[in-house]
Amino acid sequence: MNTVTTPPLNDPAHRLNEVSRQLRSAAEAAGRPVPRLLAVSKTQPAGALAALASRGQRAFGENYVQEAAAKQAEMGAPAGALEWHLIGHLQSNKAREAAALFDWVQTVDRPKLVGALAKHRDPERGPLNVLVQVNIDDEASKHGCRPDEMDALAAAISTEPLLRLRGLMVIPTPHDDPEQGRGAFRRTRELFEQLRVLYPQVDTLSMGMSADAAVAISEGATMVRIGTALFGARPRA
Ligand SMILES: *Cc1c(COP(=O)(O)O)cnc(C)c1O
Repeated sequence: MNTVTTPPLNDPAHRLNEVSRQLRSAAEAAGRPVPRLLAVSKTQPAGALAALASRGQRAFGENYVQEAAAKQAEMGAPAGALEWHLIGHLQSNKAREAAALFDWVQTVDRPKLVGALAKHRDPERGPLNVLVQVNIDDEASKHGCRPDEMDALAAAISTEPLLRLRGLMVIPTPHDDPEQGRGAFRRTRELFEQLRVLYPQVDTLSMGMSADAAVAISEGATMVRIGTALFGARPRA
């Protein structure tokens, strides 16, 4: 039973409780700290996010800049009440908007993005939190930097006062059996530990989704990104 399963009831409060319980028990079983829960809300209507926010969920992950902008406007939460994470691929021509809309960008994978985000971050909002996205399975079709590019990217981020390097994010190849993804999670954690030696403020290892969160937690995830198990199956675009 290594997966975070979708709770049987549709009620958002029930789902949030159930997912939180599953994360706690996975952490306990592995002797690891309980990870932060990022609610992945792509394609979900603002009302679904609001239902979770009213139950205390604060961190939301969106894949598209435009979609996040529309939902933030519709929800109208007071500044700072919610924490917005960009978890989708970012084009440099959207960096200005992303730097304004998000508190975290988890998908920094090339030097050009580092410069663009830093240039457009409003100093009054304080530094933008960033994660380096690593392509741990080295698939040609995927985003993320190669593991051997991590150090240079981290060094570039750390020279920017308006960016704050917080750690790594990974989306490994999905497997029918989540155990098969364990090696990728473990290799990512090893990179994370190397990074922490150089940058003491690094504290976030974002890995694990609905199907493989328990394996990711047992390999040291400090943040899991959960969509389906919280909101149910996504509406088709
Ligand atoms: C959609 C998505 C998730 C959540 O996936 P689920 O399987 O619905 O939990 C997590 N991370 C990223 C980057 C995503 O795009």
